[in-house]
Amino acid sequence: KYMINKVQVGQNETAKMLYGSVYNPSIHLNSKISVVIGDITTLEVDAIVNAANNSLLGGGGVDGAIHRAAGHSLYQECRALGGCDTGDAKITAGYHLPARYVIHTVGPMGEKPSLLESCYRRSLQTAVDNNVRTIAFPCISTGVYGYPNDAAVKVVLPIIRTMLEANPDAFDRVVFCLFLQVDIDLYHKIQEIQETLYYISQGA
Ligand code: ADP
Repeated sequence: KYMINKVQVGQNETAKMLYGSVYNPSIHLNSKISVVIGDITTLEVDAIVNAANNSLLGGGGVDGAIHRAAGHSLYQECRALGGCDTGDAKITAGYHLPARYVIHTVGPMGEKPSLLESCYRRSLQTAVDNNVRTIAFPCISTGVYGYPNDAAVKVVLPIIRTMLEANPDAFDRVVFCLFLQVDIDLYHKIQEIQETLYYISQGA
């Protein structure tokens, strides 16, 4: 398990880590933004975000992993929620997860930027409303739902920045949880992404 809350690194160290090993499991840009490589169900944060489907009753990918790790009580709470619109978010308890909450959001199928942006905005707003101070996101919609990975990150970074600027004291840490090599490569190789992440972490 990654002890996300307890890690603090200086900005020089951060820059070194950013340009360092691709396989570094956890990149902490400062006390507020981290890129973590691994299984989101192991993260000790206040809330993890689930890339769910409209039924909220579980599925494959990260959704299946979260339901397996949280246990049947999560399914029961989700069933009572009556589904979720694409681009919206709903919160439940985390049950057997180390995370206290799961924020379920439903990403678009295919490249629909305003809906993907809405997922991140609604998830962060739901977090603020529930005093969630540390939150981890998977790469929503970029798995089975087929959003191109590089197009997704270009939507994700600006909306995270906008939300952090709008709620400057709300969050202690926002984590990008990467799972696939394609995303690890993307976050490490594209200069613009690194610069934007670094900019967000300094500005926030
Ligand atoms: P979607 O239907 O929104 O595309 P997927 O679960 O298919 O959702 O994929 C979303 C992202 O989550 C993909 O990058 C996938 O590799 C990743 N993922 C799958 N399992 C996990 C996990 N246990 N922890 C973090 N990310 C995961």
